Amino acid sequence: MSIIGIDLGTTNSLACVWREGRAELIPNELGEYKTPSAVSLLEDGTVLVGAAAKERLISHPESTAASFKVWMGSAKPTTLGERSFLPEELSAFVLRQLLQDTRRYLNEPVEEAVISVPAYFNDDQRCATKLAAQLAGWTVKRLINEPSAAALYHRQSTGAADGQRMIVDFGGGTLDVSIVECFENIIEITAIAGDNRLGGDDIDRAIVEHFCQENGLSLETLEPSARSALCRQVETAKIALSAAGAAAITLQQGETQYSLLLTRALLRQLCQPVFQRVRAVISRALKDRGQIGRIDDVILVGGSAQLTVFGDFLEELFGRRPAVAAKPDEIVALGVGLCAGIKARAEDLQDLVMTDVCPFSLGVATYNNTHDSTPHMAFLISRSSMLPATHQGRFVTLHDNQQALRFEIYQGEGYFASENLKLGELEVQVPPGPAGSQSAQVTFTYDIDGILHVTARSSGGDLRDRLIVNSRLHLTQEEMKRALERIEQIQLAAQGTQQEQFLMEWALRLYKLAVGPQRTALAGLIEWFRAHMGHAGPSQRRKLYAKMEEELRQFEVDIQADPLEWGIWKDSDDLDDWDEADDDEDTDWED
Ligand code: ADP
Ligand code: MG
Repeated sequence: MSIIGIDLGTTNSLACVWREGRAELIPNELGEYKTPSAVSLLEDGTVLVGAAAKERLISHPESTAASFKVWMGSAKPTTLGERSFLPEELSAFVLRQLLQDTRRYLNEPVEEAVISVPAYFNDDQRCATKLAAQLAGWTVKRLINEPSAAALYHRQSTGAADGQRMIVDFGGGTLDVSIVECFENIIEITAIAGDNRLGGDDIDRAIVEHFCQENGLSLETLEPSARSALCRQVETAKIALSAAGAAAITLQQGETQYSLLLTRALLRQLCQPVFQRVRAVISRALKDRGQIGRIDDVILVGGSAQLTVFGDFLEELFGRRPAVAAKPDEIVALGVGLCAGIKARAEDLQDLVMTDVCPFSLGVATYNNTHDSTPHMAFLISRSSMLPATHQGRFVTLHDNQQALRFEIYQGEGYFASENLKLGELEVQVPPGPAGSQSAQVTFTYDIDGILHVTARSSGGDLRDRLIVNSRLHLTQEEMKRALERIEQIQLAAQGTQQEQFLMEWALRLYKLAVGPQRTALAGLIEWFRAHMGHAGPSQRRKLYAKMEEELRQFEVDIQADPLEWGIWKDSDDLDDWDEADDDEDTDWED
């Protein structure tokens, strides 16, 4: 049975399998590798995942969710229609869709997976990811850091020379910077830093805010659907800017049309706050690196890495323009597929080894003296230690005749324990004696799968052992059953209907945007599609899909064309002409 590699992204998710000596991406029902990480609850109680759900962000914002990966590990509920979901439940729907698509594509029973997570994900976030996979019906063989996966694939596919590489993964919602050392068959990750609330979404938000400010609009008072439409246009314009010099963004509100011409210079300016945060993460990765030495190469991965202005910024920062990896938004998935191949011990991968580092520090809370009421951290494993890591510390009693030593285990970088994430606690008995005379030795072992093992042995011989896994993974059977039942009741929209749903949602979105004859024509197309789908056989369906897609593509071009043309005109004379032309047309329609 194959093990599947999964890149569960903030924006897009992908599945990959190692077959016949190569990493092969698995297409979804629409034939695409990238499945948008979007979930929408339909009126009939089923759940739609992927491109069709992303379309519904605009038409049904109140029952659709996206970018929920940034909330993983928290208890933040998202309301879809009448129901409310935790971030891991929403992720479970995406993972279930990937499982279904994988089984259909490979035509074999599949359940084991290696899943990638941002390097900077803490224990809660990693556990929520595992839980999501379990809820979706996957068995998780391993979690792997996204940049490790990218580095692994880059190394394997390009046969890149030995050396130090910095991988900058700039996606929709997360930034990961890692430094890897490639030496012969070993890929060693020597430092990682990241920000799991920083990505292309933040750039989109900055543009949206600027748009509103320039047009005297308040984002809060915009209708949800207008807000979504604006966000969509902003993203399209941002992506277009990598090829074009400028792109226009427009928003129709009743009679008024609001607009903004986005130029590279403006985008660069709007990105400054985001880029400053990127700079801080890069500098932290460089500082954390154990050994001093030059970076031989910087490799850019992730969707946002394709932004020209991002390349410009890095060129300024590094004095040399870094290369964007081939397939920047698929490389993580390909790497996870490769890792799954290693996990399944594919013969052709046997000589590839990978080591990893701990993404955060681990330690126990400790008091300086009996008057000390605010415990601070005694770190046993520091951030960027190579895995597996084992470290010990000795702690003594503070009071006379103290009976036990209690250890609270934390993860994080804060000085005070309360600033960090508590993972668990452990207590050992000690024999009576004056303060400071009794002690316990605490051992932390952080293994390659990111699981912490803690033992404490007291001077009296008492030994306590504890495997720290997040409590949420320690659900009792009853709790797990309930958690499963909660989302199992909800079915994914029927197989084979994805394409139909997607085309329908696409048509409905265009319908909302269109006016006049265009709208009438779209109504006709929708009617035609619905009527024929009703009694079409499989091969006829395929033809209908193709025809519908072709039509919609043309409508999309026509509908988007006007604002774009309008926006690129430089001198205002042309602008006036166009406005007049537009007014005329409006009158025509009303007649
Ligand atoms: P994630 O890993 O977070 O799921 P991706 O790596 O797929 O995300 O990146 C998604 C982000 O990349 C989105 O913010 C999207 O707007 C942006 N993006 C995708 N393609 C391009 C492009 N050609 N130029 C600029 N940004 C892009
Ligand atoms: Mg990604």
